Amino acid sequence: MASHIVGYPRMGPKRELKFALESFWDGKSSAEELQKVSADLRSSIWKQMADAGIKYIPSNTFAYYDQVLDTTAMLGAVPPRYGWNGGEIGFDTYFSMARGNASVPAMEMTKWFDTNYHFIVPELGPDVNFSYASHKAVSEYKEAKALGVDTVPVLVGPVSYLLLSKPAKGVEKNFSLLSLLEKILPIYKEVISELKAAGASWIQFDEPTIVLDLDSHKLKAFTDAYSELESSLSGLNVLIETYFADIPAEAFKTLTTLKGVTAFGFDLVRGTKTLDLIKAEFPKGKYLFAGVVDGRNIWANDLAASLSTLHALESIVGKDKLVVSTSCSLLHTAVDLVNETKLDNEIKSWLAFAAQKVVEVNALAKALAGHKDDAFFSDNAAAQASRKSSPRVTNESVQKAAAALKGSDHRRATNVSARLDAQQKKLNLPILPTTTIGSFPQTIELRRVRREYKAKKISEDEYVKAIKEEINKVVKLQEELDIDVLVHGEPEAFFSDNAAAQASRKSSPRVTNESVQKAAAALKGSDHRRATNVSARLDAQQKKLNLPILPTTTIGSFPQTIELRRVRREYKAKKISEDEYVKAIKEEINKVVKLQEELDIDVLVHGEPERNDMVEYFGEQLSGFAFTVNGWVQSYGSRCVKPPIIYGDVSRPNPMTVFWSSAAQSMTARPMKGMLTGPVTILNWSFVRNDQPRHETCYQIALSIKDEVEDLEKAGINVIQIDEAALREGLPLRKSEQAFYLDWAVHSFRITNCGVVDTTQIHTHMCYSNFNDIIHSIIDMDADVITIENSRSDEKLLSVFREGVKYGAGIGPGVYDIHSPRIPSTEEIADRINKMLAVLETNILWVNPDCGLKTRKYTEVKPALKNMVAAAKLLRTQL
Ligand code: GLN
Ligand code: ZN
Repeated sequence: MASHIVGYPRMGPKRELKFALESFWDGKSSAEELQKVSADLRSSIWKQMADAGIKYIPSNTFAYYDQVLDTTAMLGAVPPRYGWNGGEIGFDTYFSMARGNASVPAMEMTKWFDTNYHFIVPELGPDVNFSYASHKAVSEYKEAKALGVDTVPVLVGPVSYLLLSKPAKGVEKNFSLLSLLEKILPIYKEVISELKAAGASWIQFDEPTIVLDLDSHKLKAFTDAYSELESSLSGLNVLIETYFADIPAEAFKTLTTLKGVTAFGFDLVRGTKTLDLIKAEFPKGKYLFAGVVDGRNIWANDLAASLSTLHALESIVGKDKLVVSTSCSLLHTAVDLVNETKLDNEIKSWLAFAAQKVVEVNALAKALAGHKDDAFFSDNAAAQASRKSSPRVTNESVQKAAAALKGSDHRRATNVSARLDAQQKKLNLPILPTTTIGSFPQTIELRRVRREYKAKKISEDEYVKAIKEEINKVVKLQEELDIDVLVHGEPEAFFSDNAAAQASRKSSPRVTNESVQKAAAALKGSDHRRATNVSARLDAQQKKLNLPILPTTTIGSFPQTIELRRVRREYKAKKISEDEYVKAIKEEINKVVKLQEELDIDVLVHGEPERNDMVEYFGEQLSGFAFTVNGWVQSYGSRCVKPPIIYGDVSRPNPMTVFWSSAAQSMTARPMKGMLTGPVTILNWSFVRNDQPRHETCYQIALSIKDEVEDLEKAGINVIQIDEAALREGLPLRKSEQAFYLDWAVHSFRITNCGVVDTTQIHTHMCYSNFNDIIHSIIDMDADVITIENSRSDEKLLSVFREGVKYGAGIGPGVYDIHSPRIPSTEEIADRINKMLAVLETNILWVNPDCGLKTRKYTEVKPALKNMVAAAKLLRTQL
């Protein structure tokens, strides 16, 4: 029984590749040094897989920047602007395409399916002269072989390569990229024959596009391509690897009848319906690479469950044709759990990063072959069981609250009079029944008990005993008083786990126990819509805010200086005190506020100096989140992200932003925007628990953000922005699943703010400009003002604008690109606003940059914002 890994992270367990790349780019180290670090990483990865017992070990899954760019290099498809003159493509040309150089911008980068990995988009047209220009696949194969590891070389398949590319500038829009198939296949043939000559016996083509909803013309390209390659592939075992979703039935048929192909790999984690297709019909004599170990998450595999799936498959495809594999490349998970020093052992036992997943794959293969490692399986079973039953994971009240949101409009079945009748039968109350509102007096003694419990000075048992005694006292008192409906008196109120840290932020401690009540309250609203329509709300808000037309604002963050990062780091490491930290951050906020006042911006932000990351900041304060120290995942090039792990029910023990936002508001008479990350974005940028549906976790987060929104409102913040930067990117790949996602995602957003009063203005902000297909969902979010990234695709957004006009909400399409250090002139910005005004009504247009300013320098931000405000003022005089 054999085992296979689809692909492996390149960065190294401690981001060795990142540092080597950046040092090379900075001219601090040589090409040889970069090559050496990379070769060491590859060799250790191959050896690790070989030692673990993996039979089919991939090669060519390493990339200096990106595997699609590697394919572009292999095919010699370098856009002319890079001035490449043929020959083997070197670092110069390769990194120029990836990152641009002094004179030429980079190629476009875009998201790899629904992951947070970005690939470099090939730019193709009828005139590209393809040539075999990078022998990397062959040299990596040979390199591994020299180390004694016979690998499966991996190539991005020819059809997926073309489907993921775009027409180069100047090429007709209706140019068929697939028509290039016949031009690139000869190069693939050259690569294949060199691999054969080098001794390869297997080859893997990654063709993930086949899981998308492709028309028959595109499906036919697969048939054509592999028929054309058939003769050169003879003598090789050929694996076509697919991943990321259920494969559509028609595509499954196309795939499994491809000529010259001997093996098929499927994602059986996301593709549960694929299992049925396999069970119904799998070609005789072919290999099935069963992706049962999740490459997109960090959870330990449920080995017993996987084993039973594998047993079922074994009876279909035969023992010698079943290969245990990962659901996709492990590129999308973290590298190695051994480097996690801060996670406790219980949580660690629930997790598996790439290195651990390799071991899982092998353990499953061995078990299938009759050599089950009983100890490993029973440890795994114990971890699965502890995760299932752990009180750290399940929070009954959150589960119930979130589950209750699912129903479409949350109405009780019977009307209120009928209900009261039924209740009276059960309760049998006198007329004018008496009750109290909930809490009974909080004695000093009671507060002491809670404090001591929190400080671990008394045990849980002692605490429970004391609180129960208090409840008993309250109950007895009410009985003596002859009250009809009793309360328990809320003696445990105000208690929360991290209240100590929060209290020092001087936020109101009053809110700490309201979460359950709030959750219940959230259920009352029918489908969580604000009571009034958006135009009426905007009117009410304008009365309060009194803004000029074309109001100016920014998206939230201001530049993060080295000094600022140092302050946060030192506070985290307890090198500076809480007081010092608060003082430093307040000073920073004050600086940002004063700057915005000088610039004469209308709606201010506090600048987010206390935040390292827009998701991590909230995750750290919500219950149910864990954080790694080395759980990095490649995002693009040398950039990595460290997603939080949502392991349990999410709730908000304390306010998260109220302290800073109120402080900021107190520094200015202008409106200060509260700044929150929305539930969908928190979800999409985390590793999400796999023991309940994603939407349930999202609803839980929504309830927590709702609490925060309402606390901000109570604290006098009249404008609140709830960022949903990643709403679009979570859209499922298969069309059939998109409506459901959009429904719960948008519902989650509405839950966060359906409870605010009309005069509270809710903004939302979204990155990535491809909104056309989801415009109705965006409108359904029912925000008062929507700011969107716009700088690169004006025309695309036109329809969004138009819909916006009908809808009436305020719209702020970014008026300049913050991703570039370039400073836009007043004229340029005014010109842009004018173009928008041609489509949009004056009274709904906002003027803002297209995203946060965190990555920019003050020397860029100040003049750019100055010009932005000048442009808005100029146009105001002309309207
Ligand atoms: N408020 C966030 C910021 O300004 C938004 C970031 C984002 O959209 N990615 O940094
Ligand atoms: Zn943004």
